[in-house]
Amino acid sequence: MTSSAKPGLLERLEQGPVICAEGYLFECERRGYLQAGAFVPEVVLEHPEVVTELHREFVHAGSDVVEAFTYYGHREKLRIIGKEHLLEQLNRRALEIAREVADENGALLAGDLSNTNIFSADDESRRTVRRMFEEQTRWAVDAGADFVIAETFSHAEEALIALDVIKQTGLPAVVTLALHREPVTRDGLSPAEACRRIEAAGADVVGLNCIRGPRTMLPHVEAIREAVSCQVAALPVPYRTHDAQPTFQSLRDPEFDGQPFPTALDPFTCSRYELAEFGAAALELGVRYLGVCCGAGPHHIRSLAEAVGRTPPASRYTADMSKHAYLGTDSSLLSENQEFAEKL
Ligand SMILES: [Zn+2]
Repeated sequence: MTSSAKPGLLERLEQGPVICAEGYLFECERRGYLQAGAFVPEVVLEHPEVVTELHREFVHAGSDVVEAFTYYGHREKLRIIGKEHLLEQLNRRALEIAREVADENGALLAGDLSNTNIFSADDESRRTVRRMFEEQTRWAVDAGADFVIAETFSHAEEALIALDVIKQTGLPAVVTLALHREPVTRDGLSPAEACRRIEAAGADVVGLNCIRGPRTMLPHVEAIREAVSCQVAALPVPYRTHDAQPTFQSLRDPEFDGQPFPTALDPFTCSRYELAEFGAAALELGVRYLGVCCGAGPHHIRSLAEAVGRTPPASRYTADMSKHAYLGTDSSLLSENQEFAEKL
């Protein structure tokens, strides 16, 4: 299927929810192909087959979008690890890998821009950041991206620069902010106000991604939904953040000496059912661009997709405990085992 034959992002959002699986850094790190710390997606050059397979697994689980793994594949990150010369190659390869999987199944191909970590409100920084967004956006356009995501911004102004660059390509723009412990942007705006400004500047979808889990993201998504008239995005991390520890960096574990972020968050992981609950609640609010960020596994994506009425290919294997030897209810099972179930 060619990209011209399939409905685009905005048409799909008019029809209903769109699922976008994210969290490639964490999943590749867990699989042993990416180093936590600098978090640079060198895996697209060193082990492209791992990225291809992960894209396929996420689509199989219900993702409508194949997001090119260029998150943190920008000039500043590559400079830090001394590999700036690989910048273009890495971006083009990431887009090519994503394109291949999107073409296999009619999913949308998304280019990806992210926080640069060097933004500060002075003209030189604004120019540098804009140049970084321009080069990555150009490569995404060359690869035939259906739309471009600009994500995980703490500064609304940095998000606005990314949006401006995307708008010049004519492609739809999805712009999401990351909210830290204080639920304001680093330039001091409430998420609702920041998203209102980003919508006014021409974004097609605005919202939040990363940093906060379902419980501590949802109230802010609700405020954004009330503040804007465009489509809204919500892509939490699958961790049990709560009012006292609202971000995955702030989570503390009495069993672990140190900061669990980013490599010891396992005990806080949400079950698939919590993601289903989040998806249903967000959709009820009118939020249609839904996904899961850092920490997401395919089982989270499948649950989210099913919660909003979808039946992805992976639903063929959705749990059915009725035939479990001990816990099942099927009449063909050995009744002694069923009676023994409470002793398990
Ligand atoms: Zn994330």
